[in-house]
Amino acid sequence: MRTVEHWVGGKATAGTGPRTGDVWNPATGERQAVVRLADTRDVDTAVRASAAAFEQWSQSSLSARATVLFAFRELVNSHAEALAEIISDEHGKVVSDARGEVRRGLEVVEFACGIPHVLKGDYSDQVSAGVDVFSFREPLGVCAGITPFNFPVMVPMWMHPVAIACGNTFVLKPSERDPSPSTLVAQLWADAGLPDGVFSVLNGDKEAVDALLDHPGVAAVSFVGSTPIARYIHQRAGANGKRVQALGGAKNHAVVLPDASLDYAAEHLVAAAFGSAGERCMAVSAAVAVGPAGDDLVAAVTEKARAVKLGAGRDPDSEMGPVITAAARDRIVGLIGTSTAQGAELVVDGRGVSVPGFESGFFVGPTVIDRVGTEMDVYREEIFGPVLSVLRAGSVDEAIALVNKNPYGNGTAVFTSSGDAARRFQRGVHVGMIGINVPIPVPMAYYSFGGWKDSLFGDKHMHGPEGVAFYTRAKVVTARWPRTSEHTSGASYHFPIAT
Ligand code: NAD
Repeated sequence: MRTVEHWVGGKATAGTGPRTGDVWNPATGERQAVVRLADTRDVDTAVRASAAAFEQWSQSSLSARATVLFAFRELVNSHAEALAEIISDEHGKVVSDARGEVRRGLEVVEFACGIPHVLKGDYSDQVSAGVDVFSFREPLGVCAGITPFNFPVMVPMWMHPVAIACGNTFVLKPSERDPSPSTLVAQLWADAGLPDGVFSVLNGDKEAVDALLDHPGVAAVSFVGSTPIARYIHQRAGANGKRVQALGGAKNHAVVLPDASLDYAAEHLVAAAFGSAGERCMAVSAAVAVGPAGDDLVAAVTEKARAVKLGAGRDPDSEMGPVITAAARDRIVGLIGTSTAQGAELVVDGRGVSVPGFESGFFVGPTVIDRVGTEMDVYREEIFGPVLSVLRAGSVDEAIALVNKNPYGNGTAVFTSSGDAARRFQRGVHVGMIGINVPIPVPMAYYSFGGWKDSLFGDKHMHGPEGVAFYTRAKVVTARWPRTSEHTSGASYHFPIAT
């Protein structure tokens, strides 16, 4: 059985923690590897190595850092297929989808290649007689990243390329469900010429996470995962005086207005709800049909959902793979069961599906539930599976109110042909990322990614300008170079003002 090791000090290491976890192949239902689970001592070793590396790396020139970033970009690009296949094998998503994940991660690396430009400071000449003011930003130190299973390459890449480009060192604690892509990423950083200790991977679970949150050598924590854990990370890391950004779960609504092309909306809703088996934080899990749009929309969605090709991630004909674990499948199946008991209409039932040749895989088929109410479990819970709930609203304002009443605020979309309605929607919703006729509005890397409300704890979104702000702190210098003749001019005792 293959063992997934940690990566500390520039090489793979077993560490001291005696525990291991199982890594499953979701398509076959078989255990394919074990992963080391770091203990507190392993965390201490990695953080110390990272802190030692920070001394040098934080002093490296911007062009030296950009050179490593450009080399890393080339290596990720040339290993994109290998990364996509490893993702597919451990996560279960189809390879074409995994390729897209790698591509979106690569965009962040490309953004970070421009770090010399992004880190330019401000300069104000002659703010007072003979006085100039300028600002620049410095790295924080050792930054930790704790990431979820659903994007094992892209979500860590929202963090480490930016943190490292800013001059920090980085310790990644990836999901223990699909840890292997992080080992290849660590190897690629090393091959790109990144000094040992600047990027580390610690595999593990709660024990490793808690040790990172409590370690005095960790300056900042970036987290992406479910809302209860995000809230916990934010509180515990914050209480320990660390800078923290913790992105949580989601319930993303797509509002379909009667003036939209229903065929276009249905096509995109189905892809956004069932792509990656619904295991995306930006997946559409609630469609809100406004006015007369409802029945026709449900009919179109039903037809398209029934046509989705379910299969193993490595099968090029598959459009949707299995979910991550047997436990996830059982939880999703259980939630689907509550819908009819609570009065909804199950129009496409994905329970009990079987894929020939993969009978033990963790499959749930596309599921569509109509006439869902906001009090029902399928609406209140983040299902994180291939389940689309359809709700009805009387007007665009009623739909906006419904979106805003939900505790999550990650992403939302509106389908319409009315610019006025779209504008009302974009201005009215309390959500961080909004799509207009775009169902999964994941911002490009040079913008920042983040939600509102229970989808983000902390005040900075990831990558883009907000990521740079998160991984650096500002210095403002006020400078005067007095001439010799001015050396004897008196200092005044009042608070300095510009003259
Ligand atoms: P999770 O919260 O279970 O795990 C995330 C990370 O936290 C993992 O590294 C895990 O090891 C660690 N962890 C789990 N339980 C912990 C505990 N009790 N104490 C300390 N650490 C713990 O999330 P997941 O199931 O891996 O991923 C799915 C979730 O992530 C969904 O809720 C999804 O919406 C969310 N997500 C959010 C975004 C976003 O940008 N907001 C992006 C991707 C995924």
